[in-house]
Amino acid sequence: MDTEITDSLFARIARGEIPVTVVYEDEHVLAFPDISPQAPVHILVIPKRPVRNVLTLSAADGEMAGHLLLACAEVARRMGIEADGCRVVLNAGKAGGQTVPYLHAHVLGGRDLAWPPG
Ligand code: AMP
Repeated sequence: MDTEITDSLFARIARGEIPVTVVYEDEHVLAFPDISPQAPVHILVIPKRPVRNVLTLSAADGEMAGHLLLACAEVARRMGIEADGCRVVLNAGKAGGQTVPYLHAHVLGGRDLAWPPG
């Protein structure tokens, strides 16, 4: 496994080495607030198994990836933004704006979000 992924901040959070405020957790994923929120609700959802980003997923990751999406919807319900709608973002790689090399979904809501993103 690539140490850039396993040494990353989110890998350490997934292993419980860095404490976070847990919004949702199950055997596959962990969700916690973004440290620099871009909306009134901004939660990150990460898999417990290390993966770089959506572009590096393989067919074997299908169950985990589907579970991650379901967890995003559960987070939206728990945070009270389901009725108004929200945005789920997966930044991937440099041009995609990914700064932490460990798969994470952003769940953003609580205000109207502009499209397209900058
Ligand atoms: P990305 O740019 O898609 O890689 O997103 C990385 C996100 O991680 C950014 O929105 C950061 O604000 C967020 N972030 C960085 N450090 C922390 C931390 N210690 N706890 C929670 N979120 C963080």
